[in-house]
Amino acid sequence: MQYIAVMREYNLFIGGAWTNSSTDETFEDINPATLDKLASFQVANRDDVARAVDAAWAAFKLWSETPAPKRAMVLFRAARLLEERKEELAVLMTQEMGKVLSETRGDVQEAIDITLYAAGEGRRMLGETTTSELKDKFCMTVLQPIGVIGVITPWNFPIAIPAWKLMPALVAGNGIVMKPASDTPLLTLKLVEILMEAGLPPGVINLIFGPGETVGAALVHHPDIRAISFTGSLATGKWIMGECAQDMKRVSLELGGKNPIIIMDDADLDLALEGVVWGAFGTTGQRCTAASRVIVHEAVKDEFTTRLMARTQALRLGNGLDPKTDVGPVINERQLRKIESYIQIGRNEGATLLTGGNVISPGLSGYFIQPTIFTAVESDMRIAQEEIFGPVVSLISISGLDEAIEVANATRYGLSSSIYTRDIASAFRAINEIEAGITYINSSTIGAEVHLSFGGVKGTGNGFREAGTDAIKEFTEVKAVYIDYSGKLQKAQID
Ligand code: NAP
Repeated sequence: MQYIAVMREYNLFIGGAWTNSSTDETFEDINPATLDKLASFQVANRDDVARAVDAAWAAFKLWSETPAPKRAMVLFRAARLLEERKEELAVLMTQEMGKVLSETRGDVQEAIDITLYAAGEGRRMLGETTTSELKDKFCMTVLQPIGVIGVITPWNFPIAIPAWKLMPALVAGNGIVMKPASDTPLLTLKLVEILMEAGLPPGVINLIFGPGETVGAALVHHPDIRAISFTGSLATGKWIMGECAQDMKRVSLELGGKNPIIIMDDADLDLALEGVVWGAFGTTGQRCTAASRVIVHEAVKDEFTTRLMARTQALRLGNGLDPKTDVGPVINERQLRKIESYIQIGRNEGATLLTGGNVISPGLSGYFIQPTIFTAVESDMRIAQEEIFGPVVSLISISGLDEAIEVANATRYGLSSSIYTRDIASAFRAINEIEAGITYINSSTIGAEVHLSFGGVKGTGNGFREAGTDAIKEFTEVKAVYIDYSGKLQKAQID
């Protein structure tokens, strides 16, 4: 196979140079389908984090003073390089993360899309001009960079999620210290190499590697980091938010989901079936927007269940580089055991296991688990409440739209949601009443486009959105500017 990664050791990228960490430790980057070693990475420590933060501040002045349209040119060039290397990056990503090649191509495409979108912001960066309550006074707002930002990302979108954060942050003029997930550092490294090749000045972005609990925590705690942009689990997000509160550090969180698909009795079942299979088992269920709850009307439940079982049992597990594969491995042994334990929890809770449930390796040595369906699931069971982050879906029966929406809302998360119905009123009720950052009508829970805001409510986040017109807001401060040209002291609210 072309583009097979060559095993080598990577050190840290600080101040525009590859530099050894202060520790003797390394960790390995493993292909989850074959358990081959792809690369090894040096582990950073607090001193390395401090060096990276200093380097980012040193580069910040020049970069933040570079006009935004010129900053954007770096992104335009990076987008072109990403396009040229799309296939190479996609193959590497399938090796590093496991998802099938069509999906890793999509992951790279999403990075290209957000890079172009953010580059366009270089010529917008819109503030507001408005009126003043006083004569001869001009009022406006301008967007300013925050400073040096700590970026911490998960492994399930190894290039798209880093790009969602880096590109808007860079075009807005910030300096960056980034810690990618330890399961997928290689793709982030490739993205940073591309940015440097595209002309990003040294030090604007710095890359450190190592465990979240030590290296990520050191970044969170560093007093000169002005903001943390984090995507990952609810547990880690809560901890980071608590720590950032101690220093009044700004923090934006994109966390987990327990995303529902509602299938009403008037739904196009063919369409709903495709949506559920894609939503539940695409990316082996390892998407924050994965459909893990199917809330199905009792009038169509039996027919839908029979058809879903047949489609699910026909899915082929395997190496994502094989074009015949539908479902790749899960990311690592820990995740495999977690999913297995949730399948046991579902059984213990009294849900009925319809299909799947086994850890298998179809002629491979990787982390494979069968696509799994539970039925007779009650909304308050743990398998219907907690994020499993694997190919496990729960069918919950309802008798009408009120109950469907109540069940959809009965979790601590609120990221994505979907309803299949032919009734326009039901669709609009779902849009209005489902507590989620995203609602799809007659489409699965996955499929975000970069020019729309992305994020969730309740336990999914803290009110920020990424991408879309919100992308720049996450990485800028708003300054209000008053220009008084009256030549006298004017007092707002008093004169
Ligand atoms: P995670 O365990 O929270 O890890 C995410 C990142 O945080 C990794 O880089 C991790 O480093 C680091 N980390 C862990 N503990 C840390 C700490 N104490 N301080 C600072 N950093 C720390 O999540 P994950 O398992 O990688 O990702 C899956 C989760 O991400 C799911 O909950 C999924 O729903 C969520 N997700 C959300 C979105 C969204 O946009 N809402 C998108 C994708 C994924 P290590 O890799 O070294 O552990």
